[in-house]
Amino acid sequence: MIDLTHLSKSYLMGDSEVKALDDISFQAAAGEFVAILGPSGSGKSTLMNILGCLDMPDSGQYFLDGIDINHSTDNELAQIRNHKIGFIFQNFNLLSKLNALENVEVPLMYKGASARESKELASYYLERVGLKDREKHTPKELSGGQQQRIAIARALACRPQIILADEPTGALDQKTGREIMEILRELNDLGQTIILITHDTQISRQADRAVNIVDGRIFPELR
Ligand code: ADP
Ligand code: MG
Repeated sequence: MIDLTHLSKSYLMGDSEVKALDDISFQAAAGEFVAILGPSGSGKSTLMNILGCLDMPDSGQYFLDGIDINHSTDNELAQIRNHKIGFIFQNFNLLSKLNALENVEVPLMYKGASARESKELASYYLERVGLKDREKHTPKELSGGQQQRIAIARALACRPQIILADEPTGALDQKTGREIMEILRELNDLGQTIILITHDTQISRQADRAVNIVDGRIFPELR
């Protein structure tokens, strides 16, 4: 499903260059739950942005579900992001003025679903994450864990082939974090491919397999 080879990415900071990813090769098969574990500044978000087709590598190859990302047009990349990938972020990235239901509806409408279909799907996925009775609440009327559940429902509603979760428990207390990880675990048990990015060893253990990222380089995890 994901096939990265010899991927590198640098940022220019004034006159100096920061090498965020240094010759990364990484594969994940459909149905896998893989954690990418590394400390702050190791390149995790840079890798997530590339995996999610939000950014491009300087060099190296990326095939997603057989598609050569380096040779895709902006239009094709937008299609891939909308149809193949579900994003979950540390800070939930919900629209604060919209209620839970509307937050889940937005990407569905954007994808061309009718208002009625969007509402039905949004309602179904909110129920799946245990928020049936919170549809009309706005993010600030909900706890962090509930907000992350909305973000999960929003990602699921588009039926992505891959879920990319960047520190999904990073803003949550331990107990709530464990609950969110249980939801991801259950989704994976039903076949959902998940790439989890985290600095937390405990959290990474919820995945089937982990790789370590250190200073932009990737290593198999020594558990
Ligand atoms: P992580 O998510 O593991 O904390 P990042 O991918 O955010 O790591 O960052 C990796 C390295 O790249 C760090 O040294 C960071 O300072 C640098 N970096 C990240 N984004 C940018 C940017 N937009 N401009 C310049 N440097 C960046
Ligand atoms: Mg990060």
